[in-house]
Amino acid sequence: MDSQHTESFKNFRNVYAALLTADPVNNKDSAEKLWQMINSKKGGYIEFYNGSQKYMYCSPIGVNNWMLLTVTPASVIEDKTNMVLNKTYLLGILLIAIFLLFIWHIMRIHTRNQKELMDIAYVDEVTGGHSFAKFFKEAELLLPETDKKTAIISMDIDGFKYFNDMFGYGEGNDLLRYIWQEVKASLNEGEILAHGVADTFIFLLRFDTREELLWRINDLCLHLNNYITKSGQVYKLSLSMGIYEVDGETDDIVSMADRAYIARQTIKNKGDTAWAFYDGAVRDKLLHEKEIESQMEKALAEGEFIAYYQPKYSTKEQKLIGAEALVRWRRSNGIIVPPYQFVPLFERNGFINKVDRYMFELVCRQQMRWLKQGLIPVPISVNMSRMCLYDPHIVDEYIGVLNGSGLSAAYIKLELTESAFFENISIMNNVIEALHKVGIKVLMDDFGTGYSSMMMLKNVAIDVLKLDKSFVDDIGDDRSEKIISNIIYLAHSLQIEVTAEGVETAAQFEFLKSVGCDYIQGYYFGKPQLAEDFAALLQKEFYDGSDAGADKKG
Ligand code: C2E
Ligand code: MG
Ligand code: MG
Repeated sequence: MDSQHTESFKNFRNVYAALLTADPVNNKDSAEKLWQMINSKKGGYIEFYNGSQKYMYCSPIGVNNWMLLTVTPASVIEDKTNMVLNKTYLLGILLIAIFLLFIWHIMRIHTRNQKELMDIAYVDEVTGGHSFAKFFKEAELLLPETDKKTAIISMDIDGFKYFNDMFGYGEGNDLLRYIWQEVKASLNEGEILAHGVADTFIFLLRFDTREELLWRINDLCLHLNNYITKSGQVYKLSLSMGIYEVDGETDDIVSMADRAYIARQTIKNKGDTAWAFYDGAVRDKLLHEKEIESQMEKALAEGEFIAYYQPKYSTKEQKLIGAEALVRWRRSNGIIVPPYQFVPLFERNGFINKVDRYMFELVCRQQMRWLKQGLIPVPISVNMSRMCLYDPHIVDEYIGVLNGSGLSAAYIKLELTESAFFENISIMNNVIEALHKVGIKVLMDDFGTGYSSMMMLKNVAIDVLKLDKSFVDDIGDDRSEKIISNIIYLAHSLQIEVTAEGVETAAQFEFLKSVGCDYIQGYYFGKPQLAEDFAALLQKEFYDGSDAGADKKG
């Protein structure tokens, strides 16, 4: 088939001659090679010149030893291959671009997630400022700068919970933002601030002298003294600040913050804005607590925690009707440590759960022993810290202990402090219900010390209300007496009995009797005493009951 192209290699009769005619020098070898290919009946190709470079393909067609010769200019082949190559390159580039786009997308998602995580960890939701985590990170960078002294200040608002309850969470958050803004505005370069959980703040200040530091703190306090709510009410703000002056004793920022926090705890809720330094006294207290913590487990295992029993009397007949078991720590050297020296610490570190459970078991066993000795015991109430309520197994454990001891539930009661009630009413009700099911009665301890005592009466099914000593102390004051008599009236109308705590004088006793208080616990009738002494009292009460009440006083 002939091509129409002017340069086409055609119009010849002998292909060898035509090759040699076209270009005798360059085509000589090609003509030879073609000769051999045709003779050998094998296919192949040659390169030759006819004005321009060309290829001749030679392929046997399988009929009569005929060969098909095809001529194609090199330029056509190049065009074709270039086109294929170009397409391949393009495809490659496209694939690489898609791949890069994909990687870029993944990276973008990753960075976005990373940023979101960072935001969660480092940005405080309420104020939009630093979180504590971010504060610690930044403080670490600032600490090595020693041109000035550094203080870490832990701050919170006294009674923030009440503020929230009074004005609502929205207003509570506004207050937090207000404080954040004011403190932030007072900061100099190289100083930082963060808001943590609830109403806690932490900030880092730089100063030259303590006077200067205190001047700034006082100035800030003054500034934050009054807060005007949305409704225009002026709320008097009272803040607590704990100050840790960086002194090289530790270089760990978290320990520094802990120390500032500890300093703050020493003045918590003292009314009015106040600050305290982490100093020698605080350090000693901390060391003392560390020492107690290192000994508590061993003390519990070795039976150093013992129960003192404080009798309770009926007001009408002045009969012994029960007792409260109060923990004491009898150290190996014989010294008796009162609960205020260790119960608050154990409540903080969680050890109180073990002590309370131990006391419960101890009292159950003691009651069984008295029963076996032929004594007629009275119900004894055991204190249960509010920490226990957060242990979901606690009720089952207590019931297990009671059943294991063989004691009737009528001989044991539980006292829960009032503050435990408003912390979580639903947990509390579950606990009370479970205890009632097995016949254990529940007393609300320290009634009247919380801020919503009346609400508690409405919401929880307690059996006895223990009127706090602070009410009893006020007997003699007309208004206080009215409050007491009405609390008793209210309790009775809800089928709740009332025990007055901390009754010390005849006048207090007479008043409580006159307003129908059911039971009395206090030094007037009896102090907390050792088990032996209490057993003697039981014996006296029931075997020598004729002069009941005669020498109970004192
Ligand atoms: P509470 O449960 O309200 O116990 C009453 C406290 O008032 C007892 O102090 C008792 O000795 C004291 N008291 C009783 N009558 C009078 C009185 O007429 N005048 C005065 N001034 N005080 C009186 P105690 O034994 O020092 O216990 C203090 C607190 O320690 C208890 O208050 C209770 O909250 C806690 N506590 C005691 N034992 C335990 C326990 O086993 N577990 C737990 N979680 N807390 C306990
Ligand atoms: Mg109690
Ligand atoms: Mg009490």
